[in-house]
Amino acid sequence: MLYRKVKKTGEELSILGFGCMRLPQKRGRIDEKRATRQVRSAIDQGVNYIDTAMMYHMGSSEPFLGRALADGYRERINLATKLPPGMVDARADMDRLLSAQLDMLRTDRIDYYLLHGIDGKSWNKMRRLGAPEFLDKAKADGRIRFAGFSFHGDIDAFKEIVDAYDWEICLIQYNYLDEHNQAGTAGLTYAAGKGMGVIIMEPLRGGNLSRRVPTAVQAIWDEADVKRSPAEWALRWVWNHPEVTVVLSGMNRDDHIEENLRIADEAHPESLSDEELEIVNKAVETYRGLMKAGCTGCRYCVPCPAGVDIPMCFDIYNGAHVFGDKIVASVLYPLRLGGIGDSGKAAYASLCEHCGTCEEVCPQHLPIQALLEDVAKDFEGWGTKAVARLVNLFLGVSRWRAFRRARQVEKQKSFFSRS
Ligand code: SF4
Ligand code: SF4
Repeated sequence: MLYRKVKKTGEELSILGFGCMRLPQKRGRIDEKRATRQVRSAIDQGVNYIDTAMMYHMGSSEPFLGRALADGYRERINLATKLPPGMVDARADMDRLLSAQLDMLRTDRIDYYLLHGIDGKSWNKMRRLGAPEFLDKAKADGRIRFAGFSFHGDIDAFKEIVDAYDWEICLIQYNYLDEHNQAGTAGLTYAAGKGMGVIIMEPLRGGNLSRRVPTAVQAIWDEADVKRSPAEWALRWVWNHPEVTVVLSGMNRDDHIEENLRIADEAHPESLSDEELEIVNKAVETYRGLMKAGCTGCRYCVPCPAGVDIPMCFDIYNGAHVFGDKIVASVLYPLRLGGIGDSGKAAYASLCEHCGTCEEVCPQHLPIQALLEDVAKDFEGWGTKAVARLVNLFLGVSRWRAFRRARQVEKQKSFFSRS
């Protein structure tokens, strides 16, 4: 296992982290025996960064991890979990949730505590409610060691958040197709330039870069002199960036874990040759050629006066057509664009008012208005609102279950402190 240093803290973290969002399941629940074996085996092979969150597995991931890290495993790793902004209405909620998380994880400190999935809007809410003071206090009294945030907004919001607090780490989506999406390469170098550790999620774009490889892309990997699986090409490309600290992989198959551990023994920064980088570039170009909208995610076209999130519309639209995952895309569309949860107003393609300003600035000269009509045809049928309602319901149930767990823990604590 290779390790990289977080400049700001001097801590050495394993370049492969274990994400506990997609643990193996059995009959709809975490397969505890198998998942425990996997987590412990990864730690035995050098992984020292384990990531979870209150919302994962509908509130079951943290209690599972608390049990899995018994027998001395907790002391061997850096434990990361997250504060869910959707469950915070007041400053006191932050202390209450952290207290419950410490209990569920059976520990007296969280090493890396992140605000979960924030963008510009939810950060403003958390800042107004006192998140900076809460994090300072939790660090001072030892409940957390370091603070960070996970992010799903645009680059401007990312830089604003990085500059707004003395963070030690951030967690961003990054892979060879998302160089210009969300925080992207610009965000990666910005945060690393401030000495922050940068943890990467979705290095395989939710598995799409390894599971459903189009024939034309597979041919590029097959022609390369060096033989690697599509997953290995994608992981090595991310680790090739010296600014990357840890790559999180939601690993739930034994063979995937073994493959990732093997690559993490060898993936030094800047170790890919120019020829190898050219091969990845070819794959990127081929993917882009297969995409229906040749959008690079540069975001020159936003904000749109009608509120359409143009690059996000195209990202989901392309994902559905390149990877053939229409069902996932139909859920993602209302989830990302329907104004669900903290994200605020809807940003659907059909909101376009045809002012034409986006087409004037698009460096790819895309017929944005016509493409948005196609997006709306694909995703805004009779089922869109129903899916949005279902997603809202699912989020509500997840929050409720996590909230109920937190309350149970609180009640047990107050019972034991009285007796
Ligand atoms: S043409 Fe439509 S999508 Fe483009 S900026 Fe105007 S309203 Fe927004
Ligand atoms: S300006 Fe064009 S390429 Fe850039 S994000 Fe907008 S649609 Fe995509």
